[in-house]
Order: sequence, then structure tokens, then C-alpha cells
Amino acid sequence: MIAVHSENCTGCMRCVLICSYTYTKKFSISTPRIKIKEYRAEFTEDCNECGKCVEQCFYGALEMVK
Ligand code: SF4
Ligand code: SF4
Repeated sequence: MIAVHSENCTGCMRCVLICSYTYTKKFSISTPRIKIKEYRAEFTEDCNECGKCVEQCFYGALEMVK
């Protein structure tokens, strides 16, 4: 599962854009399975926990945990 550390989130949207591109081949903030609300990541029920967004978060706001 993915742990969210919202205190580290910068709002850069890298996570949103990589998720969108991975599953729609478009860089869009309206189609991803992760949304940023007030610097806090929230996942939709379509999220399959692939971890792409975690890899692209350079600020430690997302963490893959067992
Ligand atoms: S884990 Fe994968 S499917 Fe879920 S929000 Fe991140 S990139 Fe999208
Ligand atoms: S969770 Fe990470 S990649 Fe996503 S907006 Fe926050 S800092 Fe950027």
C-alpha cells in the first residue's frame, strides 16, 4: 500500500501527471487515479498501487509500504 506524508508534499503534481500518462497516454490533471487536495494525496478506487507515482515523488510525500 502507499503511505502518504502530506507534510512533505509541494503540490508539484508529478504524481498526478505520471499516473495520467501511464494509463491514458496524456498529461492531464483531470484523469489520474491520484488527486492532490490541499497538499494531500488521495487515491481513487481505480488505483492499482502500481507505484509509478511513488517513483516520481522526489519529496518523500509518497512511500510504498508493505
Ligand atoms: S499507484 Fe499507480 S494507479 Fe495508483 S495513483 Fe499511483 S500511478 Fe496511479
Ligand atoms: S505527492 Fe509528491 S509528486 Fe505528488 S504533488 Fe505531492 S510532492 Fe508532488
